[in-house]
Amino acid sequence: MKIGTPKEVFPGENRVAMTPDSARALQKLGHDCVIESGAGVRAGFADDLYKEAGVEVVADAATLWKTADIIAKVRQPEDSELGYLEQGKTLISFFNPAGNEKGMEAAKEAGTTVIAMEMVPRISRAQKMDALSSMANIAGYRAVIEAGNNFGRFFTGQVTAAGKVPPAKVLVVGAGVAGLAAIGTSTSLGAITYAFDVRPEVAEQVESMGAEFVYLDFEEEQADGASTGGYASVSSPEFREAQLAKFRELAPDMDIVITTALIPNREAPELWTEDMVQAMKPGSVIVDLAAEKGGNCKLTVADEKIVTDNGVTIIGYTDFPSRMATQSSTLYATNIRHMMTDLTPEKDGVVNHNMEDDVIRGATVTHAGEITFPPPPPKVK
Ligand code: NAD
Repeated sequence: MKIGTPKEVFPGENRVAMTPDSARALQKLGHDCVIESGAGVRAGFADDLYKEAGVEVVADAATLWKTADIIAKVRQPEDSELGYLEQGKTLISFFNPAGNEKGMEAAKEAGTTVIAMEMVPRISRAQKMDALSSMANIAGYRAVIEAGNNFGRFFTGQVTAAGKVPPAKVLVVGAGVAGLAAIGTSTSLGAITYAFDVRPEVAEQVESMGAEFVYLDFEEEQADGASTGGYASVSSPEFREAQLAKFRELAPDMDIVITTALIPNREAPELWTEDMVQAMKPGSVIVDLAAEKGGNCKLTVADEKIVTDNGVTIIGYTDFPSRMATQSSTLYATNIRHMMTDLTPEKDGVVNHNMEDDVIRGATVTHAGEITFPPPPPKVK
């Protein structure tokens, strides 16, 4: 089969779904690779690097979509791209199946199979294809770097001839994939790092990274925001109150707050309220990774950086992975390559779209002219 990657058309998107290295690996599976000219440039991969890796470079998107049997891209197709969908082809991409009725209908009508990368189940065997996690890892890291860039002091404490500098205090709310990456980055820069999550099972992991887990004074277990398969569910009002009371106590003392709290298929829980922002010191920074889903902080504005009247910077960028496009393209292209490995079991360039396979079934949202979303729950963990 011929696997092709177009240039991303979403404004400001720097990532690319195929790298020269991933193309080499795809060819070892028996596939040919094709890329639209300039698709990798913003991620640091010029056309020549693809040519050296044996990739055919074509001039424009229309030729790319026509030439390829399987199209691998990053963002869900824009309206301008939906017309390229064709019978018998496969698109592998983020697709937002629950919120993209137009795209789902277009793919069904066209007879294109869509593998939605956000639908890869969070089971052990699928970790290598889990693009949500690989992107969240980058977002967590970058959130700390972005915070540091907007914070006027060191992260680490220092005793210098010119005076003693206290370490910064960082609170990470939500210790899932992005949160753990933020915690690791923050502790490695020398900040005193605190973390909170409704899932107490992450406390040990948080502590092993050198951060302090924040426990609540709550008569029931912290596990009130009970978890299923590594995801949280909604907390009770009492638990939420206890959580907010703890955050109010911490707010005046924190220099940097990074919020990553997510409950699948819901708006982000609002956890950092206006009075908490007001209680923070001037010069403090909040990075709200949940901005795209409404924000964990009341004052966050998606895609913007604002400074409040009391001097707190609030960052609501929703494109952290794109801001580290070389790294994120490398990891995303590897996720795609692993998906192709599962789709090409004989390594002979022949795709076997096995709907009995939990991972392939879970991620396939249109197939053979039908909408196949939502999938049944996976059979294995
Ligand atoms: P995840 O599911 O792995 O982690 C979310 C964590 O939040 C879980 O550990 C969960 O227990 C915790 N949580 C839920 N409710 C909570 C509450 N009330 N209090 C404290 N913790 C709570 O998700 P993830 O992959 O780490 O993603 C985190 C967020 O980052 C998501 O909102 C995601 O959309 C976002 N994200 C943003 C960008 C960006 O560029 N801004 C990029 C990637 C991901």
